[in-house]
Amino acid sequence: MMKRFVYVLAAGFCFTACNNPKPVVRDILVSDMDSTVKPGDDFFAYANGGWMKKNPIPGDEISWGIGELVQKELYVKLLKINEDAEKKGEKAGPGQQIGDFWYSAMDSVSIEKNGINPLKEELDLVNSAATKADIMTIAARMHTYGANVFFSEGVSQDAMNSDVMAYSMNQGGLGLPDRDYYFNTDARTRQIRELYPHYISGMFRLMGMDTTAADARAVSVVAMETKLAAASRKLEDLRDPYANYHKYAITSLNGLSQGIDWPAILGKMGVKHVDSVIVGQPEFYTALGTIVSSADMQTLKDYMAFHLVAAFAEYMSKPFSQANFDFYSKAINGAQEQHPRWRRALDAEQGAIGEELGHLFVKEYFDATAKARYEQMVENVRNAYKARMEKLDWMTDSTRQKAIHKLMSIKKKVGYPDTWKDFSALKIDRGPYVLNMLRANQWWNEYGMNKLGKPVDRTEWDMTPQTYNAYYNQSNNEIVLPAAMMSVPGFKDAELDDALVYGYTAASTVGHEITHGFDDQGRKSDEKGNLCSWWGWIDTVQFMKRADVLVQQFNKMNPVDTLHINGRATLGENLADLGGILIGLDAFKQTESYKKGEKINGFTPLQRFFMGYSLGWLLEARQERIARQLLTDVHSPAKYRVNGPFPNVPEFYEAFGIKPGDKMYLPDSLRVHLW
Ligand SMILES: [Zn+2]
Repeated sequence: MMKRFVYVLAAGFCFTACNNPKPVVRDILVSDMDSTVKPGDDFFAYANGGWMKKNPIPGDEISWGIGELVQKELYVKLLKINEDAEKKGEKAGPGQQIGDFWYSAMDSVSIEKNGINPLKEELDLVNSAATKADIMTIAARMHTYGANVFFSEGVSQDAMNSDVMAYSMNQGGLGLPDRDYYFNTDARTRQIRELYPHYISGMFRLMGMDTTAADARAVSVVAMETKLAAASRKLEDLRDPYANYHKYAITSLNGLSQGIDWPAILGKMGVKHVDSVIVGQPEFYTALGTIVSSADMQTLKDYMAFHLVAAFAEYMSKPFSQANFDFYSKAINGAQEQHPRWRRALDAEQGAIGEELGHLFVKEYFDATAKARYEQMVENVRNAYKARMEKLDWMTDSTRQKAIHKLMSIKKKVGYPDTWKDFSALKIDRGPYVLNMLRANQWWNEYGMNKLGKPVDRTEWDMTPQTYNAYYNQSNNEIVLPAAMMSVPGFKDAELDDALVYGYTAASTVGHEITHGFDDQGRKSDEKGNLCSWWGWIDTVQFMKRADVLVQQFNKMNPVDTLHINGRATLGENLADLGGILIGLDAFKQTESYKKGEKINGFTPLQRFFMGYSLGWLLEARQERIARQLLTDVHSPAKYRVNGPFPNVPEFYEAFGIKPGDKMYLPDSLRVHLW
């Protein structure tokens, strides 16, 4: 997919236009520090270690940091919106949907009593399959409600022509988080792989199978999934947008997978008004044909039944949700206990009708003046990047012109969308809960399919305003910064000095997202959002040579066990972090507070900028979660998003007197010189 959701865990909006910072009484930067650590040895621990020592990860969390604290405040607000809606008991409109969703999700008596029964009709259908053609027809139906077996697919802008919506088919169908889980030989991954058939077997037993049959059939399911995994590309091999773009006429798709009638399957999933589709990984689809045609019917049905139940286990009775938690949250991510029901209900609702909730959220909680301030910060950071591009000695003038043109064309979306999605066609009632979720998935499938053949709606948001995150969308050449990014737990804007704010927001969010337009993927599309090689040959060689220094730096980092960061897979994010720091700092240097140079609580503005950036990554995660992240996520673990880029920033050495011999010290010849 061209669009990358950028999980900026802890980069809340918090800047102030205040040019005369008052002495700060409560100073979040100073109170979080661990002054027993030398800044040049481990800056992340120096800046954040004090907080981490005082705040162990709660049992129901897999990580704990400033992002979670912001989220905690959001949950309180969202909870109130839901409880109010349920009490009001409106008979129609968004209030009815939110209130009834909440009722069904919190109605644990009915949820426990119903068990798996609400899914019985769908499970019976799976078990009624008599032929391979039936299997694929039912698989198509499962895709329409979010149980994505065998492959993955969806509607998005065409990477080659952003004015057109395209239907894409990609590798998928795995129950483990990534293909590497099926093959890696380190102890941690092996252990998860060994648990997986037990988890599947447990689900089969809950569905009424006896233990012997459940165990044997789970093993067959894993064996078949392993074949799908073997045919799947590695995380780093999914980054090249050209290598993952293959246009096929729908009529020619039958030649792709032996025995699968794709035109019929696509029709059943709701694909319409297009005569071609984009296949990301054709060799996967060729293998899929062979795998399905050679598998026995029982294994195919078991695989589908398992995925159906696993997809909805979270919304069913305790035995199902507990088994799902024990494997995915506990074994894979290290959580110790389940979140309370109200919290899980809010998470589910966010995925189902999040924007509807967001509409109410911003009405009640979003300060409109923040929007204008935030937009101004985007312009300050953009201009800082422009000034940098103008001075780059490795870039040719013709590529420089185009880069600046793209930079100045980046659109910004701040706070909340101007138009809101209309969920009125979605039926939400007071239960069963799991069927509300199933119908919500169907609504989203139809919502996507209805975009095909129509003009692209460039006003759309792919995150809700209450999401604590941000993204760069390559196809629209835009950065999107939701309202929730503007909250800082426990502090008001006026309490935060410019240095903190420029590190915390301008660098780690605004600068980060803008730099994505020029990372290893983003640089391959133009100002209109189309894949297009606008870079000169010499510039490309220079970019790759310079970026490769960062790849090598991250490949050496070893966050847990024997697992290293995948420098190639995380390159785009690491480039965005480094670029964000450089241009966020340049923008900060234009402020009066920087120019005045007054210390606050003993720290210079420059020092506080780096501390503010690190505050944005204040996060402690369980070892399991870090290990999972290394295999599945294009973002480096939090600590390395601070300690990774900083040694490449000259002002970091200046600010803290970093010298040869300090662990983070890098001689200039080994630093990245890109932006
Ligand atoms: Zn990013």
